[in-house]
Amino acid sequence: MSSAQVGKTEMILNLIGFHIDRDACPILCVQPTQDMAATFSRDRVAPMLRDTACLAKKVKDPRSRDSGNTLYSKQFDGGHVTFVGSNSASGLASRPIRLVLFDEVDRYQTTSEGDAIELAKKRATTFWNKKFVAVSTPTNKGSSRIEAMFENSDKRDYHVPCGDCGEYQSLRWSNVQWEQDAPETACYVCDHCGSVWDDAARYRAVRKGEWRATAPFVGTAGFRLSALYSPWLALESGVRDFLEAKKLPETLRVFVNTFLGETWEEAGDGVSDLEISNHREDYGGKVPNEVVIITAGCDVQDDRLEIEILGHARDSETYSIDFHTIYGDPASANIWADLETYLKQTWERHDGRMLSVKATAIDSGGHHTQAVYKFCKPRISQRVFAIKGVGGEGKPMVGKPSTNNNLKCKLFMVGVDTIKEMVYSHLKIKDEGAGYCHFPHTYTDEYFLQLTAEKVIKKFHKGFHRREWVKTRTRNEALDCRVYAIAALSIINANVNMIAQRSGKTVDDEDDAPKVRKDRRLARTPRSNGFVNGWR
Ligand SMILES: [Zn+2]
Repeated sequence: MSSAQVGKTEMILNLIGFHIDRDACPILCVQPTQDMAATFSRDRVAPMLRDTACLAKKVKDPRSRDSGNTLYSKQFDGGHVTFVGSNSASGLASRPIRLVLFDEVDRYQTTSEGDAIELAKKRATTFWNKKFVAVSTPTNKGSSRIEAMFENSDKRDYHVPCGDCGEYQSLRWSNVQWEQDAPETACYVCDHCGSVWDDAARYRAVRKGEWRATAPFVGTAGFRLSALYSPWLALESGVRDFLEAKKLPETLRVFVNTFLGETWEEAGDGVSDLEISNHREDYGGKVPNEVVIITAGCDVQDDRLEIEILGHARDSETYSIDFHTIYGDPASANIWADLETYLKQTWERHDGRMLSVKATAIDSGGHHTQAVYKFCKPRISQRVFAIKGVGGEGKPMVGKPSTNNNLKCKLFMVGVDTIKEMVYSHLKIKDEGAGYCHFPHTYTDEYFLQLTAEKVIKKFHKGFHRREWVKTRTRNEALDCRVYAIAALSIINANVNMIAQRSGKTVDDEDDAPKVRKDRRLARTPRSNGFVNGWR
């Protein structure tokens, strides 16, 4: 851990390798999920054991019988290294362990049996010289485990000396400067003397750096690094990433988490229906030319189906095209025949191009699961998908499908809270362009009340915030349909920007002019700190 040039995964591998070679002891490596534990063991640890001469002798060949070398556990003289997922309580509660490695703790899942970190820590109680190492890319402010652990540590920052004035400093994004729209001019500016460092000067400074604690040591050493310390990163590419990421809140969040290694603070809790209803506009009877792909989201109620037809344009800008209700009993065939007819219609763009619905997601989570499976299964080739919402922070927008049901219908798990975060952050965007949500002038006030019918509350759970979505009124179908229509796009993994680029001059010509203006308005201004808040 002494070098800033070591990545998180390499650090974990180093610790495993070191303890197998020099200090044989039982090791537990906890990954967010059981799948990730298997992948880490197979793709990272196994090659290291095979290719490192001193380690290859200590762990038997996995092909030999009774080698004690399996995907989830590798034995060696004096110990073993075991890989488990944070979601596998049984794997967390067996043999005693001296060294516990917690990888990507901010992605840990809570199981019914309790918190993975607490469970794993219990296994080390018998060792006087036990050691815990936790690493992670941070996630959201308040709910980030690694941030909380860092706050309770001696908080070490890596300080590097300026080649000109010799003063030590930690590297901050606010000191990265470039000329407007010219990432190739990116440089780092010394905090003390203002001298300008190119990449080579920055690499040299990092090589001479050292860790400095910023709080008293009380049993935990904490280290943090951003990608600014990376010897493989040219600042130009960092600035390019940033300029691309800042277009949308969700991509900026990823940049802040992974590049800067900082937590992300969510803006506000809900959106106002009145404000969003101002986004109504007259499309002129046809679909705007910016729309390049259409998806549908369908919510199943006991007496009706509600469907949103959603048009997607470049940079996640959306145009709601239709919000439609089909009344009837979802247990009867008629309503599904009506849905099929509705979904099959085409939508005309101003330039004459006809668009059809490319993918549909239908909620199977209500009282009519079987009916949804029955409708979706034979239509999978038409990209009609059965989905089920799963709540919780940080869930992927769409998970792997399962066919573990009586009709063997492909069922996609949808991270509804993740998509709601995105929808609400986009609804807050006030200027047309990336992420902005357009609505037709025909939509009623009730529609906007439904769309904004939820808000986030912060709940405390074992000392951590947890963001939870709650309804502020009973009817919220408009929001659900929007979430499902976005899930449909995510399932087919369509690259909207690429389609927009390919789909001809009409789209390009109209987009180019305002784009330049937008970039100019968002251009960078100097500021001292508070990176995240400065950019919204
Ligand atoms: Zn200096």
